[in-house]
Amino acid sequence: MRTTVGIIGAGPAGLLLARLLHNAGIDSVVLESRDRAYVEQRQRAGILEQGTVDVLREAGAAERMDREGIPHDGIELRFDKRRHRVDFPALTGGRSVMVYAQTEVCKDLIALQLAEGGPLLFEAEALAVEDAESEHPRIRYRHEGREDVLDCDYVVACDGFWGVGRKAVPADVSQVFERTYPFGWLGILADVAPSHDELVYARHDRGFALLSMRSPSVTRAYLQVPEGTDAADWSDEEIWDELDRRLETEDGWKLERGPITAKSVTPMRSYVHEPMRHGRLFLAGDAAHIVPPTGAKGLNLAVGDVVTFARALTHRQETGSTELLDAYSETCLRRVWQAERFSYAMTTMLHTAPDASPFDGRIQRALLDRITTSGAAETDLAEGYTGFPLD
Ligand SMILES: Cc1cc2nc3c(=O)[nH]c(=O)nc-3n(C[C@H](O)[C@H](O)[C@H](O)COP(=O)(O)OP(=O)(O)OC[C@H]3O[C@@H](n4cnc5c(N)ncnc54)[C@H](O)[C@@H]3O)c2cc1C
Repeated sequence: MRTTVGIIGAGPAGLLLARLLHNAGIDSVVLESRDRAYVEQRQRAGILEQGTVDVLREAGAAERMDREGIPHDGIELRFDKRRHRVDFPALTGGRSVMVYAQTEVCKDLIALQLAEGGPLLFEAEALAVEDAESEHPRIRYRHEGREDVLDCDYVVACDGFWGVGRKAVPADVSQVFERTYPFGWLGILADVAPSHDELVYARHDRGFALLSMRSPSVTRAYLQVPEGTDAADWSDEEIWDELDRRLETEDGWKLERGPITAKSVTPMRSYVHEPMRHGRLFLAGDAAHIVPPTGAKGLNLAVGDVVTFARALTHRQETGSTELLDAYSETCLRRVWQAERFSYAMTTMLHTAPDASPFDGRIQRALLDRITTSGAAETDLAEGYTGFPLD
């Protein structure tokens, strides 16, 4: 098989890239190792930045999001049983975010791709990217028990953190910047209406808690837990009791409980691979970088990368100039590092490390006090949360 752009991975990055290229009249083939049901059910992100919402609309992939997504104009910070609302539009000149699950973004993009786009092969596992430095890179892959080759003009690895794309960048040009955290998030889905109409980020001496939602009838919530925790070790009652403790306020706010339908633990990591391009191989999304989920940035960064690639390739096709393709890594990394900084700052401000000293706790409170009393500090948070601009 032959195509202009070979895309590895049908997560949000790969699926959106295929859609953007289709709209620009550029053909592509998407190879996805898992089956369709798995890709459509994998619970992950839920917050779309303003820029992501705009991109999905422009791509003609927002019809259901605009019907079923829940626009959010702020978040609540909780600490010392106090509550503080951060009003995004007021602080950012009108920007906000949308609660719409990654599973739904993927379902919408898969439906569009299968109806209108180029080939999207499920259960097609990329084995290796070859000849990335040549004009005709290739993806070796296995589909329906057979090995095959996809000849391309460009390969975009959108295959997540554990994918094969990044491995094709030679070790002597790769640089990795990384931090792991000594805690993770125990995440639940529960069949109960969210107890607050916006997301609540709580700092507590026992650890961080986040109250979120997937829909008007489904609560999503997270608890900071020690690294290596097994979700099965937490009973439903223990989870609700702990959420109650960490989210408690002095004004009698009440957490509604309901049946828990899913439980899982996510490790926390910051990771950046530089460069994000090698020859005609481009890395996008989690294949190139990971952020801890505290800043709700992962999916949004993936969107930024593929928009940058689609624009650069369109520019190449229209003008013959490779200027934007050549600048891909540098352009993406500027935004990536802002998101890394923001996610790191939110994580360290809100989580209690196992070796945290009383001094660390006081600094966290001082940071939160600063945000709740200084317009400049609060604006900085609102700008970071609603998203850094796409160049
Ligand atoms: C619990 C949790 C909560 C999160 N919350 C948020 C949030 O609120 N906001 C936010 O922005 N981000 C959030 N994230 C991060 C976000 O989910 C990821 O950043 C996002 O999925 C990245 O998209 P991607 O397309 O780059 O990679 P992925 O979604 O990982 O997709 C990669 C795809 O490639 C496929 N693949 C892998 N290897 C191969 C191969 N060899 N051949 C073919 N296919 C392959 C995989 O099966 C997968 O479908 C969260 C993540 C987690 C785990």
